[in-house]
Parts: sequence; C-alpha cells; structure tokens
Amino acid sequence: MVVWLNILVIFLAFVAGMCIFSLMSTLAFRVENEAKLNLNMYCESCGHDIKFYETIPVISYLFLKGRCRYCGAELRGRDVLNELFGGIITVLVTLRFGFNPSMADKFKLDEVLDVALNFTPMKLIGLITIVAFVAMMDAVTLVDHDSMIIPDGFNIVLFVISIISIFTVPGLPIVERLIGIIVVALPMYLVILAIPNAFGGGDIKMMAAVGLMVGWKLALVGFLIGVLLGGFYGMYLMAVKNYDKKAHFAFGPFLCIGLVVAMFCGQDIIGLYTEYIAWMRSDV
Ligand SMILES: [Zn+2]
Repeated sequence: MVVWLNILVIFLAFVAGMCIFSLMSTLAFRVENEAKLNLNMYCESCGHDIKFYETIPVISYLFLKGRCRYCGAELRGRDVLNELFGGIITVLVTLRFGFNPSMADKFKLDEVLDVALNFTPMKLIGLITIVAFVAMMDAVTLVDHDSMIIPDGFNIVLFVISIISIFTVPGLPIVERLIGIIVVALPMYLVILAIPNAFGGGDIKMMAAVGLMVGWKLALVGFLIGVLLGGFYGMYLMAVKNYDKKAHFAFGPFLCIGLVVAMFCGQDIIGLYTEYIAWMRSDV
C-alpha cells in the first residue's frame, strides 16, 4: 500500500515537473524572441496554432516525430531533454523536501519513504514554492545561455518566490535570509566597480533575490560551486577550444546549478566542512 502510494507521488511529481519545465522552455523562447507571454500555444516556426494534444511533454515530440505538423520545421530536441530533466528534478525535490520542506536541515534518507504517508496541504505548498524556484533557475539558465542576459523580469519573479518562501518554506531564520540578500551580491557588486564586466548585473540581482530564499550559508555554498564549475568551463574553453582569455561566456547557468545543488545538499556540505575543521584542530 505504502509502496503504491509512493509510486503514485513520484509519478505525479514527474508528470507535473515535465509540464512545468515544458512551459519554461516556451517562456525562455518567447522572452528571447520578445514574443507575447500568453498561454496560446503555437508553432515557433510558422505560427500555426497547435492543439492541446500536440503540446504534451515528450509524448507529442515522439508522436510528431520531432516536426511541426503544419510546416515540417524541426522541433527543438533541447526542449524534450529539458522536459525529462524537469520531471526528474521535480521527483528529486519531492523526495528531498516532501517530508520536511526546510532548507535548514540536512538530507535524511529515511524521510524519503515517509513523503507519501505524511503529505499535508502545507507541505505541498512548500514543495510548489521550491519547484517554482528550481523552474525559474531553469528559465534563467536557458535564456542566459542563449543570450547572455538574465532578464529583470526573471529576477523579480525570483524575488517574489523568495518572499513567499518565508511563509511556505520555514526553517531558516529571517536574519540568515536577510544577510543572504547581500552576502554574495554585495562583494560581486564591489568587484565590478573595480573590474567592469567581471560579472553581469543580472547575475548580481539574481544572487540578491535568491539569497533571501536560501539564506547566506547556502547562497555562499551555491556561489562557490558556481565559481568552481564556471572556472572549469573557462579553462576547458581556453585549453580545448582555444578561446581568448577575454572571451565572455554566460556565468548565470553555473550559478543556477550551484544554487540548486546547495539547496539539495548545502547543509550536508557545510556539516562535512565543519567536521573537517574540527578534526584538523583536534589533530594539532
Ligand atoms: Zn510550424
């Protein structure tokens, strides 16, 4: 019985995640192309209206063999991967935060099986807030990757989600959240005063908006992971692709990955780090 309940929850989370991330692909495309933001679904090549059943994540793509039924234009394969990714990450969010929607606690493996049995409307609202945050990280990643811009509108949405999270995703003290706004954004801002173009303004606003949601500890962990990943990517571009040192690439996606990783297991990383420090000290 419990097993079936868990399978049902995972299935629903997967389907919901695919639908939400499908919307994020559409949102990213329309923002990049300055198209109207509405719920009308149409082919991005010929503009023909498409039916509801032609927009079902993954399934429609397979059914249409990856082409528009009206103009034959190829549908973007990236969107299908994004939908699958959305399904998987929403399942992971549900398992990680379904029992205890709090970013202040470490991951507990035994909570995973308790998700389905202990579901409450309040926990669902917390989960929806976290999924909305991850979905916006996805939209930022897509748009920043394509156009090297994080739209102000996205950062405003992230800020609103962060404010809502104060009520729906409890756990972190409000002081920790408020410091989160400046802990990364302020130093980043000081760096661009000295070295213009070191970071984009959108990256800074995003770190401020998200800092309110995850608090200063996780914002720092997320930023450090982002800098590490971005650094490796930069070295790869220079070493393998012979990019110029001054060449720019979008940093936002790495920050987004870092923040999502920090959200999932930042408290565990902090725990390991403090244990390591304590062990080093006791050794001396
Ligand atoms: Zn078409």
